[in-house]
Amino acid sequence: MSIKSAYMDYQSTTPLDERVLAAMMPYLTEKFGNPHSAEHRFGWEAEAAVDVAREQVAAVIAATPKGITFLSGATEANNLVLKGVMEVWGRSRPHLITVATEHKCVLEAAAACARAGYRLTVLPVGEDGLIDLSQLEDTMDGETALVSVMAVNNEIGVIQPLAEIGAMCREHGVLFHTDAAQAYGKIPLDVEAMNIDFMSISAHKIYGPKGVGALYRRQDRLTAIAPQMHGGGQEGGLRAGTQAPALVSGFGKAADLCAVEMVQEQGRLSIMRKRLVRGIAQAAPGMKINGHHDLRWIGNLNVNFPGIDGDRLFADIRGLAVSSGAACASAIAGPSYVLDAIGLPEKDAKSSVRIGIGRFTTDEEIDFAIDKVSEAVSKQGGCE
Ligand SMILES: *Cc1c(COP(=O)(O)O)cnc(C)c1O
Repeated sequence: MSIKSAYMDYQSTTPLDERVLAAMMPYLTEKFGNPHSAEHRFGWEAEAAVDVAREQVAAVIAATPKGITFLSGATEANNLVLKGVMEVWGRSRPHLITVATEHKCVLEAAAACARAGYRLTVLPVGEDGLIDLSQLEDTMDGETALVSVMAVNNEIGVIQPLAEIGAMCREHGVLFHTDAAQAYGKIPLDVEAMNIDFMSISAHKIYGPKGVGALYRRQDRLTAIAPQMHGGGQEGGLRAGTQAPALVSGFGKAADLCAVEMVQEQGRLSIMRKRLVRGIAQAAPGMKINGHHDLRWIGNLNVNFPGIDGDRLFADIRGLAVSSGAACASAIAGPSYVLDAIGLPEKDAKSSVRIGIGRFTTDEEIDFAIDKVSEAVSKQGGCE
């Protein structure tokens, strides 16, 4: 039986793993207590669940559980760390560095810091999507408080050299934050070995529920952050508001599954990815990969088809749930700023397709994607 649609947009979100749902259920039903109620069993069992999840989330990145603050997602984590660090360091070190291809929430939080009077540098990237390390070093000065560079890019999948950036930041006494929403649980990350002071994580990118994430913060006087949400002092005062034990438990379970299955999943995905690339390239030999060819997350394939009309292409591959280079930020119209940053001409950005594969992608879906894209490209007489 042939299929009529396939979800291949794993960078935008991932399906909830059934095992994650099972871990969440007790906290949506009988174990409904408030984890901050210290007087009775209902509170204690909810608190215990949050504690277990904190250990599970920390273990994936070799962090201490104390360093994990649960919050609503990577958007909140990014806002908290950029604004919170600048609020603490702003007087003595008013300079913040980030990169042109960061997720909108980092760029917008950085813009808010600039409006608040801090000095902002937005580094460019090369055609491969990677930053230039010597340029980063030249940009740092005695006033630089924080460098924020993402781990894996959500659009083009390239992996920035985190260990090198971390070492450079540590050497210059600058704090290092990485938005790891697309990397956590997928590629090996070690906050100690990579000198990462802050890391943003999102549960719904790793087969967990939407609406929960974490900020990792290295436990040190220098990494103090000014809270951006004030209230009942939860999460060590860093993020007020009643914790959501169901979401947090699901996040913990999702993190644990990623750690246990990482190697096996990478193997499976890389075989699928090879077949996908080969299949599409057969019908469209002119296909070009956007961003670095090897330093990238294997679950992300972002390609353009020279000479192909993007609007017609997307109309013809309906049923294949992928993301377009014309509207990668979905709510924002116009060609992607990430593809623009790697120097891709507008017409090639418009014919760009991001195909995301993951844990539940099947061979049948890979075939479907190859067929759909091949047909659509052939219909336009093939690409140049
Ligand atoms: C999805 C994503 C975010 C936003 O995460 P939410 O948890 O949805 O707020 C931030 N950065 C990157 C790189 C992402 O992929």
